[in-house]
Amino acid sequence: MIVKKQFAVIGLGRFGGSICRSLSNNDMEVLAIDIDEDRVNEFSSIATHAVIADTTDESVLKSLGIRNFDHVIVAIGDNIQASILTTLILKELGVSHITVKAQNDYHEKVVRKIGADRIVHPERDMGQRIAHNIMSNNVLDYLELSDQHSIVELIASEKMHDKTLIELDIRANYGCNVVAIKRDEEIIVSPQATQTIVKGDILIVIGADNDVNRLEKNLLMD
Ligand code: ATP
Repeated sequence: MIVKKQFAVIGLGRFGGSICRSLSNNDMEVLAIDIDEDRVNEFSSIATHAVIADTTDESVLKSLGIRNFDHVIVAIGDNIQASILTTLILKELGVSHITVKAQNDYHEKVVRKIGADRIVHPERDMGQRIAHNIMSNNVLDYLELSDQHSIVELIASEKMHDKTLIELDIRANYGCNVVAIKRDEEIIVSPQATQTIVKGDILIVIGADNDVNRLEKNLLMD
């Protein structure tokens, strides 16, 4: 028997609501929680259960049996105090995995200290991805791996066409690694140095931010 993972989403704004919908669409068990009755009503037919609760109240979280959930997502954005207090209580109650949506760096620092397992900045991350995409039409996607490293998905520019990876020498010239090439439906994982790039190829490149930026500027822009 497959035991379904149990999720709880606290805060049903645009972000929390979207997580809740996606988890439910993927047949996951989801408890949707919000202090606002209208928001809870909106999710009563979407989530497995939807309850009105103030999650800054420890007794409320205890009575919901929150520590039995595999993963709790704290998506309270504007009320940073409520987000921090909720995270603290979840941690104290022994919830095994907590993801928090952070509003700013200060918020992130505090919830990290408390012990949140994952901290996300959806607006900041999406802003970065879109900025890279509009700076160069060749950049399809951009993902920050850490403060200093990222992965980019880019369309091979004319300068790259019909050249092998060794000829382009992306590793020596830019310190980046091509980890995969998407070609139509095919994905070439860990391509060899002798691999030729053809028109329409999409390269997945990993590297330090400075190096990735240099690659974007020099190899993509004519
Ligand atoms: P988003 O940016 O994701 O759209 P939002 O601006 O709609 O978010 P926020 O104020 O960031 O809303 O909060 C998200 C949700 O968290 C709201 O629906 C709000 O009612 C809920 N919320 C705020 N405080 C608490 C609390 N103490 N307990 C439970 N839910 C709360």
